[in-house]
Amino acid sequence: MRLAGLGSGSAGNGILIAAGSSQPDSLPRADSTTTVLVDCGFTLKEAELRIARHGLDPAQLEAILVTHEHSDHVGGVERLARKYGLPIYLTRGTWLATRWSKPDALNFQFIEGYAAQQIGLLTVFPYAIPHDAREPAQYVFRYQDKQIGLLTDVGHYAPHLAQVLQALDGLLLECNHELALLDESSYPARLKQRIGGRFGHLSNCTAAAILRDIAHSGLQCVIAAHLSQENNRPALARAALEPVLAPLGLTDRLHIACQEQGFDWIKIQ
Ligand SMILES: [Zn+2]
Ligand SMILES: [Zn+2]
Repeated sequence: MRLAGLGSGSAGNGILIAAGSSQPDSLPRADSTTTVLVDCGFTLKEAELRIARHGLDPAQLEAILVTHEHSDHVGGVERLARKYGLPIYLTRGTWLATRWSKPDALNFQFIEGYAAQQIGLLTVFPYAIPHDAREPAQYVFRYQDKQIGLLTDVGHYAPHLAQVLQALDGLLLECNHELALLDESSYPARLKQRIGGRFGHLSNCTAAAILRDIAHSGLQCVIAAHLSQENNRPALARAALEPVLAPLGLTDRLHIACQEQGFDWIKIQ
């Protein structure tokens, strides 16, 4: 299993998840793997470029999964799905809250009651999260005995999160802002309240608290994601998460996703 980022942050998100039997160190091949894209907050041209940067053609994708209707996640989904005939997995709430220009030309696969989905080789476990969207979902992906969990756009540490995310092999975790920087930022008061509120985004500090409860020595990677360009710095996200990973000897497993480059393929063995 492996994952890669097309870009991460409020200007656009996209995560590739691939499972399959391709040779170690090679890129996923279409014939023996299943690759899905989670969210696409980029224009069609930009999405194609970013997918190509990771050695893939969008036609090799099996599906697009959408987490919620905010434009940094769904903004580019329709055009990419239509051009390449890709099914779109999403909740009915996300579907209702998104403005589709030609819904009849799209293949929607509805996730009802956060039920598990089988997409090719990947088993997908959607789960609910607290965020200011209609029916947001995040996902855990399983292939054979390995699991990758995604957690971004989350307002607070709800009790079920630690349970859903236990025993992961790879984790992508939102580190949206540093509380002090958000406090001091030039954002309007209402926006600060939204971001820091119970249905906004995770601070470095809350991300560290979640990680503390789910980290274990078998965790192969932790990717800090959705960092605010204004209210966070890679060094601050690192400073929050490293003390949690250090006692487990995992500091070298920490990666920081960025808006422009996302992150390169990371293998889960
Ligand atoms: Zn977002
Ligand atoms: Zn959002």
